[in-house]
Amino acid sequence: MRIFKFGGASVKDADAVINVAKIIKEYGTTTNTLVIVSAMGKTTNALETLLEKFLDKENETTAAVHNYLNTLDNLKNYHLEIIKNLFSEQKTQRNLAFTTLDYLFLQLQDTLENKINIQNYDEAYDQIISFGEVISTHIISLYLNEENINNEWIDAKNFIKTDNTWREGKVDLVWTENLVLRELVPVLAQKIVITQGFLGGTLGNKTTTLGREGSDFSAAIFAYCLNSQFVDVSVTIWKDVPGILNADPKIIKNTQMYDTLSYREAAEMTFYGANVIHPKTIKPLENRQIPLYVKSFLNPENAGTCIKNIDAQTANNQDISNKIPTIIFKPNQALVSFAVKDLTFITEENLGLILNAFTQFNIKINLMQSTAVSFSVCTENNARKLSKLNDLLANEFEIKVQENLKLVTILHHNAEIIHEIMEEKTIFLKQETPQTYSAVVLEAPNPKGE
Ligand code: ASP
Ligand code: MG
Repeated sequence: MRIFKFGGASVKDADAVINVAKIIKEYGTTTNTLVIVSAMGKTTNALETLLEKFLDKENETTAAVHNYLNTLDNLKNYHLEIIKNLFSEQKTQRNLAFTTLDYLFLQLQDTLENKINIQNYDEAYDQIISFGEVISTHIISLYLNEENINNEWIDAKNFIKTDNTWREGKVDLVWTENLVLRELVPVLAQKIVITQGFLGGTLGNKTTTLGREGSDFSAAIFAYCLNSQFVDVSVTIWKDVPGILNADPKIIKNTQMYDTLSYREAAEMTFYGANVIHPKTIKPLENRQIPLYVKSFLNPENAGTCIKNIDAQTANNQDISNKIPTIIFKPNQALVSFAVKDLTFITEENLGLILNAFTQFNIKINLMQSTAVSFSVCTENNARKLSKLNDLLANEFEIKVQENLKLVTILHHNAEIIHEIMEEKTIFLKQETPQTYSAVVLEAPNPKGE
């Protein structure tokens, strides 16, 4: 049972979609292959803009209305261009592709103008943003038909069941597994199935999204559920990089690729901000010991990286690649420090108060450090959440926020690499264990142009 996930970059134009069809033909099987696709190119961002512009239009100025309709047109034209290039005049699915696109854009406009409740922004967000994946999967399914790749389009919201935590739907795995086994397995037995990443549905069948870049997570959930039926489930994430590298090649020269990684190491890398795979992806796969391949859609014949179970013993003997230093930058961070107001010390009670507030506002701690009189936390710089935190705790503590920071994490560090990476950086907070070196530094580019 193969589960393939194609992200936005792999379906960003007609040539990319043609390449996806080739990969499915060559590396998939005619049955028991599930294909999960993201929105095309930067469509998700464009839909976010569209929603903003629609809300602006409520001011009812002509310019705002014009702006909104323009954004809608541009997004439609982007998809239209892809369809024109995929389906030439002679193609049998050409008309159907055009009508499907017309219909989906009318539906998008109708949802915006008549169906969403703008009092609940997050709920409205999910109803609109989800169109990206719905549109891309329809186009790709039609193109696969054109190429005689027998496939069925399914609606992910009928399978991935979530609560109504809009924009971050919490998946009900038991319910989802039941539906997948009962209703998806029989379809998979007959043809390739194509569905949307990133989307789920509530009990009332409203669409939810699983968090930005969540399509990898969708692939992992489907794999988890299918694993009780098949012995050989694997997930392949097709990307524009050869596999998982030890650093972002846009930032660091001479990167190295891992042939294999343990679930644990991969999970740690995503925690610290490596954005090759979505952080939630690893856990369901590890739970059922399902291998995850990260491969290049440009060079599909290359092996890429395999994430799987590697026990500590093997990891030690094996693979020196496990000792390659991994360098991860997490941008857009803030350092929040809490100092006690009188000369009492930071106590467990104080810490409890602070940490509870972080839990309450769902603020993720990326690094923390405590001294006698202060406690510092590196977290995502989210002004809205940090101001709530400040309102709640300002009476108890002197709170300072330092912005414009990034978190640097080096796994399997050595003195040389630390020197190379940290040279000329202003360090605000630093922590070192035998495995992990972390530092919070100014975001501003350094003279080397990083
Ligand atoms: N299209 C969604 C996003 O860009 C989900 C994904 O690409 O994984 O966030
Ligand atoms: Mg995307």
